[in-house]
Amino acid sequence: MSPADLAALRGSLAGAVIAPADSGYDVARRCYNALIDRRPAAIARCFNDEDVAAAFAFAREYGLEVAVRGGGHNPSGHCVCDDGLVIDLTLMRRVEVDAERRIARSQGGATWLDFDTATQAAGLATPGGVVGTTGVAGLTFGGGIGHLTAQHGLTCDNLLAAEVVTPAGDVVRAGPDGDEELLWGLRGGGGNFGVATRLEFRLHPVDRVLGGRLTYVGDEVGEALRVYRDVAVAASDEFSCSALMATDDELRPVLLVFPCYTGAETEPEELRALRSAPGLAVDGVQAQSFVQQQHLINPPYGDERSYWKGHFVRELPDDLIDALLARIRTLRLPAGQVLIESLHGAPKRVDPGGAAAGFRSAAFNLSAMGGWLDPSYDEEGIQWTRDTAAAMAPWSSSGGGYINYMQADEPIERVRAAFGDEKFQRLQALKARYDPHNVLRRNQNIPPLD
Ligand SMILES: Cc1cc2nc3c(=O)[nH]c(=O)nc-3n(C[C@H](O)[C@H](O)[C@H](O)COP(=O)(O)OP(=O)(O)OC[C@H]3O[C@@H](n4cnc5c(N)ncnc54)[C@H](O)[C@@H]3O)c2cc1C
Repeated sequence: MSPADLAALRGSLAGAVIAPADSGYDVARRCYNALIDRRPAAIARCFNDEDVAAAFAFAREYGLEVAVRGGGHNPSGHCVCDDGLVIDLTLMRRVEVDAERRIARSQGGATWLDFDTATQAAGLATPGGVVGTTGVAGLTFGGGIGHLTAQHGLTCDNLLAAEVVTPAGDVVRAGPDGDEELLWGLRGGGGNFGVATRLEFRLHPVDRVLGGRLTYVGDEVGEALRVYRDVAVAASDEFSCSALMATDDELRPVLLVFPCYTGAETEPEELRALRSAPGLAVDGVQAQSFVQQQHLINPPYGDERSYWKGHFVRELPDDLIDALLARIRTLRLPAGQVLIESLHGAPKRVDPGGAAAGFRSAAFNLSAMGGWLDPSYDEEGIQWTRDTAAAMAPWSSSGGGYINYMQADEPIERVRAAFGDEKFQRLQALKARYDPHNVLRRNQNIPPLD
């Protein structure tokens, strides 16, 4: 892009433009997944709706591919593209809280750290992601699973309204006082319809929780995972609980369990059962603030090379637990994990017709997550992840995966299966209305209906 073209883009924005010759370029093009190394022609740091519309117009005029960046966490690296224009929302991170009406209004580039900081000041929360640097909008549009899922549903179930700038530059309101179909699509259908500059969420009173981490180590990890499974499927709506199977540095199996209990008891029966499971090495569960709970998992940004793949499953039978443990035992480095997210509780009670998210009937979301530092391990790490996901496949509830965790090489059939044919077609019709030329295709894509 010529200096004159860049000057034109700079002149059309209230925000900033970062080009390859600028000093912040390498930081600004970096995303969470260090496997992704792309060099956009320019990064438009938008400041408001008008900037987003101007960036779309510029991309159209110059025939540039568009990528949209929120928190930069999507493992596919869709937030950055070679030679194209990045619509970067990192200047738009304000979160306002209406404590009386229990509503939060978040700008389109806010992270969960921004969101929780603002809402917890009023003793309120919405079920969000478990890592503070993840983008609020990106996570919500893919569904959203976290420490309050059993209590209050998927993140997208708590999205009340949004304002979206379409690729044509129009500002559209999604919600009961705007386009209700667009709100339905944003609740799980991904970043396919426009750039959201404002999102409104329902908030819930959440102060202290009984939470933290239980660590099980060694040969009894399989048995501990069976106890976790039994606890999760029978748990009350006040007890969210996810688990992570991995290895320690000596390649012994490790199971981490992350309960988050919001009820009144000092030791609910679910926690008692988990505490008595074999192999418990460290009991880090205590009464703590929800903010502390949200800081339990704090991986460094942009260091790891990540490759993820998984399946929603209707159940977690012993055979599947054995298969997962066998996969963990094949690791040659501590470079892989299996995340087990329970979907019990509120996600099952929400009107399934209210959101595009198509996976709430599953019992668990299972994800093989390869993560390593050494580039020479790329091939092995990717293969380990694929083989581990293949071991889950016989129990898959739909054949589809969680779009928030999908790599860019997933075929469209996996995206379609994540929603089911009927919802996918409905999303395609919505896409045809708001993005008929598929400008927003660098995502878990829903092509417009012809
Ligand atoms: C360390 C880590 C922890 C995670 N934890 C969780 C978790 O606890 N729960 C969970 O459900 N998921 C989790 N995820 C997955 C995460 O929710 C998705 O990858 C999500 O897409 C990330 O959004 P982002 O804005 O950070 O990423 P980006 O890569 O910036 O954006 C991803 C995509 O979202 C869309 N998008 C982002 N912002 C906007 C916007 N304002 N308007 C329109 N489209 C937009 C775009 O299509 C973009 O390509 C995690 C991922 C990582 C790497």
